[in-house]
Amino acid sequence: MVIIQNYINGEFVNPHGQIFIDNINPAKGEIYSLVPDSEHQDVEMAVQAAQKAFGSWSQTPISIRSDYLRKLANKIIENLDQLALAESIDNGKPLSLCKILDIPRASANFKFFADTLIDFHGQSYMTDHNQNQLALNYTTYGPLGVVACISPWNLPLYSLTWKIAPALAAGNTVVAKPSELTPMTAFLLSKIVSEVGLPPGVLNIIHGKGSSVGTPLVTHSQIKAVSFTGSTLTGRSISTAVAADFKKLSLEMGGKNANIIFNDANFEQALKTTIRSSFLNQGQICLCGSRIFIQSGIYQKFKSALVEETKKLQIGNPLLEGTDQGALVSKDHLNKIISYIELAKSEGGNILCGGRQENLTGENINGYFFQPTLIEGLSNQCRTNQEEIFGPVATLISFDTEEEVIEMANATKYGLSASIWTSDVNRAHKLPKKIDSGIVWVNTWMLRDLRTPFGGIKESGLGREGGVEALSFFSEVKNICVGLV
Ligand code: NAD
Repeated sequence: MVIIQNYINGEFVNPHGQIFIDNINPAKGEIYSLVPDSEHQDVEMAVQAAQKAFGSWSQTPISIRSDYLRKLANKIIENLDQLALAESIDNGKPLSLCKILDIPRASANFKFFADTLIDFHGQSYMTDHNQNQLALNYTTYGPLGVVACISPWNLPLYSLTWKIAPALAAGNTVVAKPSELTPMTAFLLSKIVSEVGLPPGVLNIIHGKGSSVGTPLVTHSQIKAVSFTGSTLTGRSISTAVAADFKKLSLEMGGKNANIIFNDANFEQALKTTIRSSFLNQGQICLCGSRIFIQSGIYQKFKSALVEETKKLQIGNPLLEGTDQGALVSKDHLNKIISYIELAKSEGGNILCGGRQENLTGENINGYFFQPTLIEGLSNQCRTNQEEIFGPVATLISFDTEEEVIEMANATKYGLSASIWTSDVNRAHKLPKKIDSGIVWVNTWMLRDLRTPFGGIKESGLGREGGVEALSFFSEVKNICVGLV
């Protein structure tokens, strides 16, 4: 059984209290590894190690920091098979998905910031307000110090590296905390970090629960910024906990995204992508379109085709080729999804397909599998359509006019992303401005260019990740004004 350790100051160490949490393989429903149940003493050690390393790392030339990031990117690709297998076992998601999405993206995150760092520059202005005095204004970007990076379980290595890479690139040292439910690839990353020879203390990875590691980490007086991805509930509690200290805060949180399909949409493309945007990663992606709005002219036809295609999705052992739907991440999460199906029924929902736990046989007999589910007949205001379910469950709602669908799409406390399917070029450009979300895709979904700002509005997010936005977040901006006499 693999015993995961913390990575502090370049060394692998057990948690201070020598206490571990069971790490469950969700496709088998059995314990297969142990995760440190770290506490504030471990956080303290990690923060002190990061603080000690900060002086030298922050002075390290950009080209060398960039080289380190590129080495990490390359090593992740060299270890793609091992990392993909580990991610699949730890999370329950299909191995095939880990190979094409999770692990390549983790590598791309390091490579992207290795490149972007080189080009990252400030503004400069020659100021001539007064005839007799010219001045040169220019901005510089300096690192903040020790920063905290906290990530969720749904895209474990992908989302952790999306934070670590810009934080290190900008010259900060990092204490990272992956989800206690999916710690394995973060542990393997710490081995890669050690192999690559990143100086001790520059990146520290601490494992454990939100209450015993997350809270002492974000509230630590030496932590200058917190980059968090997870639920809105946790984001709110972090925001409250650090408010008095004026720490920089980046929050990527929940969503209840609208997928809007007009009569004039390319039917086949919209259908194919809606299957992905509803059920990829068992629907456990913050960007999934869990509310599908279909214009009345094609509602019946689209519904029938969607149900037919959904039923074809292969639920099974995540390690097997051909599996489309793996296991949900935990028993608690499975129970949460089951309770939402009961809620949907009590709210008058009609289950079009799925709606049940899937019982596999053999080694997966105790796994946490759930059938991809489509529901219709619910109002947009009901709890099923307002609360984030974060599983393989999507609802279908018919609409007639553009105004009607905009109102329904926006009538939620969330505002992460939306998709629009139309062949009307005017609508394609005009409608996104009226949708209250940080990202709008038109005739596509989850097409990511790492240079673009990523994040949500309302209760989905605070700030933006991606591109120079992330480098700016992890930097202190200074304006220097030089009078020219
Ligand atoms: P979560 O909020 O329960 O946990 C996220 C991380 O925060 C974990 O590492 C957890 O241990 C830690 N944590 C928990 N309590 C903490 C505290 N008090 N202080 C500091 N850290 C604490 O979320 P989850 O269940 O792991 O992830 C699912 C959620 O993440 C969903 O709501 C999903 O929408 C969201 N998500 C959002 C995005 C995005 O980009 N907007 C991306 C992925 C996931």
